[in-house]
Amino acid sequence: ATPLAERDPELFGAISEELTRQKDQIELIASENIVSRAVLEAQGSVLTNKYAEGYPGRRYYGGCEFVDKAEALAIERACKLFDCSFANVQPHSGAQANQAVMLALVKPGETVMGLSLAAGGHLTHGAPPNLSGKWFKAVQYGVRKEDAQIDFDQVRALAEEHQPKLIIAGGSAYPREIDFAKFREIADSVGAYFHVDMAHFAGLVAGGAHPSPLPHAHVVTTTTHKTLRGPRGGMILSNDPDLGKKINSAVFPGLQGGPLMHVIAAKAVSFDEALTPEFKSYSRQVVENAKALCEVLKGRGLDIVSGGTDTHVVLVDLRPKGLTGNVAEQALERAGITCNKNGVPFDPEKPMVTSGVRLGTPAGTTRGFGVAEFQEIGNLIGDVLDAVAQNPDESSLTEDKVRAQVGVLCDRFPIY
Ligand code: PLP
Repeated sequence: ATPLAERDPELFGAISEELTRQKDQIELIASENIVSRAVLEAQGSVLTNKYAEGYPGRRYYGGCEFVDKAEALAIERACKLFDCSFANVQPHSGAQANQAVMLALVKPGETVMGLSLAAGGHLTHGAPPNLSGKWFKAVQYGVRKEDAQIDFDQVRALAEEHQPKLIIAGGSAYPREIDFAKFREIADSVGAYFHVDMAHFAGLVAGGAHPSPLPHAHVVTTTTHKTLRGPRGGMILSNDPDLGKKINSAVFPGLQGGPLMHVIAAKAVSFDEALTPEFKSYSRQVVENAKALCEVLKGRGLDIVSGGTDTHVVLVDLRPKGLTGNVAEQALERAGITCNKNGVPFDPEKPMVTSGVRLGTPAGTTRGFGVAEFQEIGNLIGDVLDAVAQNPDESSLTEDKVRAQVGVLCDRFPIY
């Protein structure tokens, strides 16, 4: 019963420092969020002790009565939240959820098609260094040069030429709504399964601030920790009566062993939270905040990829300021604003340099920031970028000033 602080002061110290960082910095990484105490409590529970290979009611271990309750709750709530008939809540991560879909629906050597990493897609959608690009014949579509939106002429032409078995929509740095119906029509025309990876915008779908892919896709995957604001993990959903069994077998025993029952319990808690009216307001606010941030940044002379956003993601093209993503990311971090460098479509810079930064509003919205705060944050970002554009090698007085203003904002909207 020794508390962590006594048992392992060194590790406890690292956790304490991370807590302070989260409290005192403005988190603009689009894939991050701030979970509730209830989610933390479930994830830190004794359910971590339990082996439960199999599914509720059909386990390979004894003593599963109570973890069965937890997993059944998670499944029931996921189905209610996303209005679907099937949910597998066991994937340890978004990447594993996507792998499970491939294991269930395609064979190695067959063709899969997804949005390229360079255009805002995800590694697991067929990128060359990922398993999805190594074990499958991966065809990648992109976005149009003129508006940075999905090039459906190219999607259709590639689908007709390569006859993929699986077409994937969704991405990590794509700020716009996706025309799911058009994708499904193209998938049907070549006999492909249509898979939507809604990892980024799942919380917006849950809260009604974004159209749902479920009426259109054969299968939908998501992470649970981004806009959805649950514990780190993955999930697979479907309304197709023929796919549930295949997906379950692909997750276990196909890909994973024992499910992380403490994480599944925390998923259940977060889904219940996402069913509340408060979550609806949060998800609408996330999008409003992102739109407000876009407008301020445009006013400060930055380009916004695709001209704006329909989601929580703001992809900033820094080239009008003569800046690269790595320089901007570091300057903002010195000023207490955390984000990540990100390639923009047709980026001339290398992936470790890039011409852009990706910003997102979920974590800030969770701590209570509204449009006024995000307008202020947009101006703080503008100040830091203008200063570092003048003098790329040094931290500036401006950064110190912004750091102080970030502190004031964070104190006004405390977490934990
Ligand atoms: N799919 C998309 C669209 C993502 O953005 C991500 C994570 O960034 C993933 C899948 C992978 O999720 P995880 O990091 O949990 O494996």
